[in-house]
Amino acid sequence: MTDIPTIHAPCRPDWSCAACKQEWPCVVRKQQLKYLYQGNPVELGNQLRALMEQAGADLPALTEEQLADRFIGWSERPIATPDHS
Ligand SMILES: [Zn+2]
Repeated sequence: MTDIPTIHAPCRPDWSCAACKQEWPCVVRKQQLKYLYQGNPVELGNQLRALMEQAGADLPALTEEQLADRFIGWSERPIATPDHS
């Protein structure tokens, strides 16, 4: 995987965002994914489950519950944008 800092891609194996260094998926990537899979929540869910399985192999310290919340749970809720004050 190439490392292009402007793309909000996951840096493995720690699954931080290549661009903003937040836990991946970061807020920007979540917004992009929601936009990309607008009207196709089933396919989004499939993609997220596949990512969660990859991340689960890389991040054995996380429980299944933590993984599910981080990779899938957000897609079922409105995205909380960071509060830049
Ligand atoms: Zn990011």
